[in-house]
Amino acid sequence: MLQQTRIAAVLPYYDRFLAALPTVHALAAAPQEQVLSLWSGLGYYSRARNLQRAAQEIVANHKGKFPRDLEAALALPGIGRYTAAAVLSIAYDAPFAVLDGNVARVLARLFAVHGDLREPARWRRLGEAAQNLLAQSPAGDWNQAVMELGETVCTPQTPRCATCPVSQFCRARALRLTNEIPAPRRKRAPVKIKIAAAIFRDPRGRTILLRDPGAHDHVLFSRMWQFPAVEVRRDPAAELAKHLQDELGPVAASLILEPLRPAKHTVTFRNITLLPYLARVSRLPKSVRIRVLPLDRLHQLPVSSATRKLAASVLSQ
Ligand code: SF4
Repeated sequence: MLQQTRIAAVLPYYDRFLAALPTVHALAAAPQEQVLSLWSGLGYYSRARNLQRAAQEIVANHKGKFPRDLEAALALPGIGRYTAAAVLSIAYDAPFAVLDGNVARVLARLFAVHGDLREPARWRRLGEAAQNLLAQSPAGDWNQAVMELGETVCTPQTPRCATCPVSQFCRARALRLTNEIPAPRRKRAPVKIKIAAAIFRDPRGRTILLRDPGAHDHVLFSRMWQFPAVEVRRDPAAELAKHLQDELGPVAASLILEPLRPAKHTVTFRNITLLPYLARVSRLPKSVRIRVLPLDRLHQLPVSSATRKLAASVLSQ
């Protein structure tokens, strides 16, 4: 259900992306800023960067066609074993089995595999099992069927064994171990982080965004345009004020920072509290690293959802 909700939430963004960049040539030729702007809202921004780099290599070295050869596919930016197998089997009916979380769960239950499935040796053996089971033709249909089985029938909780088409072969079911297999994944302990950000606003409703301005931009702001921000510990306003002076110089010395309602944000294992501060100014700071734009027009630049949340804290006032 969570996944379906997530898919429903991101589909409009994918549609917008595909409508604007419908071919590999269009994607390869587009300015990176346009690609990232269209990707905004989908998260995992390195995927957008890799997708474009892969498109550029496909245009430059493969006559605009995704390569049919596994090694060549794996050499493309952002293309790992799973994606290569999925694309090659579905597009070209090539005999490569996919192994994702859904397929691994189905196989682990079919063969009653205990332990952490992501442990490298175990994951490798699951990949070999998937390859051995693969129907040679049509391989793409087979891969999609197994993924779908995991997504809709052999679900993580309460698998629907009574309607499962492979239940007669399932060892976990025979052993009454469907609730124990797969073993829960060892999750990285969550880390709490506080980020204070300054949202400048001039009398015309304009603000500033920076790029690569410092702490946590690579994680939280995905190396995209963002408000000046810094990770804080004890005194958010004072630490942010110091950061602004370091980043923007004396122009930030006399700023009054008005605290706004905090927002929560999660990036993988990081539980982030966003602490927005409004900085009303008569004139916005200037620098070559700064972009000035209306606060309600952030979509004109590639920004992460954390930046959108920060902007919303001002716009919803
Ligand atoms: S019988 Fe149940 S546990 Fe086994 S593969 Fe089917 S849905 Fe999964």
